[in-house]
Amino acid sequence: MNDLLHIISEPALNVPASPYQARHFIDGALVDSADGRKSDRRSPSHGVVVSQAALGGVAETEAAIAAARRAFDDGRWSRLSGKDRARVLNKVADLIERNEERLALLETLESGKPISQARGECGGAADLWRYAASLARTSHGDSHNTLGPDILGVVVKEPIGVVSIITPWNFPFWILSQKLPFALAAGCTCVVKPSEMTPSTTAMLAELLAEAGLPAGVCNIVLGHGDPVGSLMTSHPEVDMVSFTGSTAVGKRITATAGQSLKKVALELGGKNPQVIFPDADLETAADAVTFGIYFNVGQCCNSSSRIIVHEDIADAFVDRVVALSRKVAFGNPLHPDTQVGAIVTPEHREKIDGYVRAAQEAGAELCLGGAGLSVPGLGDQFYQPTVIRRVTPDMAIAREEVFGPVLSVLTFGSFDEAIALANDATYGLSAGVWSENVHTCLEFCRRVQAGTVWTNTWMDGFPEMTFGGVKQSGQGREIGSYGFDEFLEVKSMVLRLGRTRVPWVRNT
Ligand code: NDP
Repeated sequence: MNDLLHIISEPALNVPASPYQARHFIDGALVDSADGRKSDRRSPSHGVVVSQAALGGVAETEAAIAAARRAFDDGRWSRLSGKDRARVLNKVADLIERNEERLALLETLESGKPISQARGECGGAADLWRYAASLARTSHGDSHNTLGPDILGVVVKEPIGVVSIITPWNFPFWILSQKLPFALAAGCTCVVKPSEMTPSTTAMLAELLAEAGLPAGVCNIVLGHGDPVGSLMTSHPEVDMVSFTGSTAVGKRITATAGQSLKKVALELGGKNPQVIFPDADLETAADAVTFGIYFNVGQCCNSSSRIIVHEDIADAFVDRVVALSRKVAFGNPLHPDTQVGAIVTPEHREKIDGYVRAAQEAGAELCLGGAGLSVPGLGDQFYQPTVIRRVTPDMAIAREEVFGPVLSVLTFGSFDEAIALANDATYGLSAGVWSENVHTCLEFCRRVQAGTVWTNTWMDGFPEMTFGGVKQSGQGREIGSYGFDEFLEVKSMVLRLGRTRVPWVRNT
């Protein structure tokens, strides 16, 4: 089987001789944990330790939250002009671009993603920072000049306060950049916790924030596990909002914890994103987009299009096309610039993916390609073959749950209504796609599908201006775009009476 796939084993870059040392960033200082504890991260592709990160506990988390609270309350950032905040954010963007190579290498080594993709995500994140900087200057409220001659109503937006930002391992630097610059642009102060599997690029950002002139305490970073660091960040009374990306299970736990003190919670969770292919579509382009949608980031992507719903008249031919393209996708050593798909994040996650494939086969689905782990010569076996499964039925776990691997499920439909019913038959509602040359089909689909983002005749094109988020159990609130920025703002109504025109309430008889 492996010799029918495109596998790259040799690297173009070397793994650094010594691991990167990641430290907390608290009140403007890079520090180790008080008890000296650290965790090692092994590269999922190369099996060697590539970073050692301070492992924070309650003491570090409390110190970070206290620093963020002080920094918010004394106004060193929240009361700066939008122009001054934008100047710092734009400087961070410049520094990100200047450090792209350093960031990308660590991102690849810790996550297993290909270096070309890591370069795109780390360097490309600068645009998110610049866009957020533009919002810092253009944010405004409303005025009401029609409330009568003696009243002026003004609605202003204010930063919400201290924001806890908790990020996952699949896009460590990109997801951080979908949240942090927007919170900072709004005038909030932050405490950030990356996944303990991929802490280094977040820790590296601390150096860039300091160099750009962000005042001490405005952004604090604590490295460590969900428990105790993440859970304290969601329960602490001095935190005003939690912004989280990760699993739906942890998202629900965070909502319950944060609900105790009625913190605002913004969640970006999982997806079971369908692409629906009608017979009149440009099938060649659709097949390429389906291949991209399932293998990008080894399928470890909330936007992965892990199920396709294809019209029954074209299903067999379309699947043949996708299988043929899948064999050409370059899996292998993420340190080679031609590699398109790298390693699975942990051995346990590889087993979880495999479990879904086995269960689907036992339930009667048919394997068209892959369906097993993959060994890359010289690198070990923490990889998974490109996998396509057809005759999947809507009741199977593989059709309903987030597999988070390079595994495509194929379902079929006969009528438009059936396609919509299948697309919406999910607890998730993050994104969806439609392929048709008929604009009426596309528009009808866009209107009726339950998803936060709908792509027509494309997949996963994203822009800082286009807000992102899910419906149903894919989350709540929005990220990026002006709507994502507004999540970090409170709205205040100011009612101004002009002159001494107020009629007394107490009768002065
Ligand atoms: P999790 O949701 O467990 O982790 C995401 C982040 O939340 C990590 O930083 C984690 O810390 C932290 N965390 C864990 N528990 C808590 C808690 N009680 N309070 C606060 N923070 C907490 O995702 P996994 O890494 O376990 O991945 C499991 C599955 O989740 C995947 O297979 C996939 O289906 C889905 N997922 C979805 C993502 C998306 O982009 N929507 C991203 C990642 C995963 P730490 O891990 O360091 O302990």
